[in-house]
Amino acid sequence: MFYRSSYHSMKDLCNGLEKEGYIQSKSVYNALMQVDRADFAPRFPYQDSPQPINYNVTISAPHMHAYCLELLKNYLFPGGRALDVGFGSGYLTVAMSKMMGDKGTVVGIEHIKQLCDFANGNICKHHKNLLDKDKIILIEGDGRLGCKQLGPYNCIHVGAASKELPTNLIDQLVEGGRLVVPVGGQNEGQYINIIDKGRNGKITIRKELSVRYVPLTSVKNQLKGYY
Ligand code: SAH
Repeated sequence: MFYRSSYHSMKDLCNGLEKEGYIQSKSVYNALMQVDRADFAPRFPYQDSPQPINYNVTISAPHMHAYCLELLKNYLFPGGRALDVGFGSGYLTVAMSKMMGDKGTVVGIEHIKQLCDFANGNICKHHKNLLDKDKIILIEGDGRLGCKQLGPYNCIHVGAASKELPTNLIDQLVEGGRLVVPVGGQNEGQYINIIDKGRNGKITIRKELSVRYVPLTSVKNQLKGYY
């Protein structure tokens, strides 16, 4: 049986993720170490597995957060601008801000109002300054449309699986920017797609890891059977 490791602290967890090869750089290690998953995951925060946060969704597993930050690390720099679509618990939104040394802007967009409140409360536990200084801006809305008015973005992360290539989001990347998004339907293979917009606007797409994410969908579809 495949058993995901359970650790007892952020240090334990990050050391484990480093050993397993998910954390490959000091910058990702340091960013994750600054954001205690216990502030964001209601149960088993140091276990390397997704945890339910209600509304039919989960906070992603720590190894996926690490994996995505490794893919985005060169695009998360001081003064930069990033978008986190489907921020859920808010964990990765804060980690992205930490990658920028608290000196960039991360816009988060989430379509469930209660999760917007949940993330806001989670972030306020130890990182309220980032909200106060607009280093993190949380927006309630349909992430499939992105957030054009606050873009364009050096990078975009999507925390839910898009059925098709999300062209609205690609449009909101700067030239030289990167989008990391799981693509695929619920009953087919999903893969992390790394979509780069070249200096001339040329798009290149690379498919990497096979994954299982909750869908990027409508509020109605997500909450089916929940209430
Ligand atoms: N990175 C988050 C992932 C949460 S799960 C974390 O680790 O906590 C995926 C999130 O995407 C859920 O919170 C879900 O509500 C949200 N989501 C799904 N479809 C969406 C849409 N169309 N617009 C915005 N958010 C969406």
